[in-house]
Amino acid sequence: MTKPRPTIKQLRQWDRQHVWHPFTQMAEYEPLLIDRAGGCTLVDVEGHEYLDGVSSLWCNVHGHRHPALDAAIRRQLDKVAHVTSLGLSCPTMIELARRLVEIAPEGLGHVFFSDDGATAVEVAVKMAFQYWRQCARPRPEKTLYVALGEAYHGDTLGGVSVGGVARFHTMFEPLLFEVLRLTTPNPYHPPVGVSSEGLLEHCLGELEQVLRRHHERIAAMVIEPLIMHPAGYLRGVRKLTRKYDVLLIADEVAVGMGRTGRMFACEHEQVVPDLLCLAKGLTGGYLPLAATLATDEIYGAFLGQYAEGKTFFHGHTYGGNPLGAAVALATLDVFDEEQTLARLVPKIARLGEHLARITRLPEVGDARQCGMIGAIELVRDKETKAPFAWEEKRGVRVCQHALGRGVWVRPLGNVLVIMPPLAIAMDELDRICEAVEEGIGATSC
Ligand code: PMP
Repeated sequence: MTKPRPTIKQLRQWDRQHVWHPFTQMAEYEPLLIDRAGGCTLVDVEGHEYLDGVSSLWCNVHGHRHPALDAAIRRQLDKVAHVTSLGLSCPTMIELARRLVEIAPEGLGHVFFSDDGATAVEVAVKMAFQYWRQCARPRPEKTLYVALGEAYHGDTLGGVSVGGVARFHTMFEPLLFEVLRLTTPNPYHPPVGVSSEGLLEHCLGELEQVLRRHHERIAAMVIEPLIMHPAGYLRGVRKLTRKYDVLLIADEVAVGMGRTGRMFACEHEQVVPDLLCLAKGLTGGYLPLAATLATDEIYGAFLGQYAEGKTFFHGHTYGGNPLGAAVALATLDVFDEEQTLARLVPKIARLGEHLARITRLPEVGDARQCGMIGAIELVRDKETKAPFAWEEKRGVRVCQHALGRGVWVRPLGNVLVIMPPLAIAMDELDRICEAVEEGIGATSC
């Protein structure tokens, strides 16, 4: 006899009782149980529909249950579900590595697979460290990293070390390695005495000062390209890191795979990083798979006789998993077949129109955009830019309101993020933005 299926009530109870959700205060947790999805719509166990306004945490690209992506996984499943890349290889993974090298910025010829965004960054951080110990002219004293103030690079200890969000990261400080932290070049929050126009020069000047003083001890700078920096910053960072012999790690976990309107954010400023981290949208948002791409120069430093100990002693059980690789290949095919990036242009413009309207609301300090990413910063005082106390859960309350309108979005503190799948239809995008706008109005008192 088969076991009876649990009731919805039981599922809610077991969810609270047994599942420990990430970034969630479990004492206050209210479950929303998603049973299925199609296109850009999530459907809960009671049949209620919600537009997926944040791409199931910034990773869905072509929509849920895309026939080509589903079929690619099924085809791979008929062959093999998992092949370890430690000692074995698999045609699907090899083909994906080749495709990534073909489309990535020129010169990134080697792909190290892992499984999540944080591991992609962790791998890059460790590769940079090891590179300086065994490159042609070793510089073992290069052990420091440079990163930006408000950066988020994942939750492994390496990712947390280079991350800079105080509320997430302060707790773990005793466990972290040393990072030189720079002012985030955020035009809405320039440092005191610096105008928005002077921000680019100021921030690049600060970077040059740090590099001039410490470059002999700096292994790499980690940056999430473009978010939400003034134009020219990334190019300036590349120029300076080259000048001072510091590696550049581009964390494109969130901004890669078409999100900014180009396949890779670095392309906007014709930048080739030394290490490029991909995850999230790499599989269209279907399965955990990540990739760290490296230049020939870095890869070459790891070659030698086994006994020389130059091997990169790092690996994850599921890194390069063939199901993930199959759906990643299908994701890239769909980009071509559906002309996803060309069709994104009017959607990016429409998102811009919505943000231009929303920014005029009294509780909105700033509404910024980078391709198909919208970020709306709520403020208590528009004049002084004074924030709402995080305990007020302003962002959460707006999102709860949107949920009542059939739109699922998740905030970052007081910042509302609008980041739907690239496949979003124009009217769906309108509904997401309007529900958020309405939520801001409804929760302002
Ligand atoms: N880097 C960036 C820029 C991210 O946005 C994220 C996830 N939001 C990560 C790294 C970590 O990725 P993951 O959650 O897949 O570990």
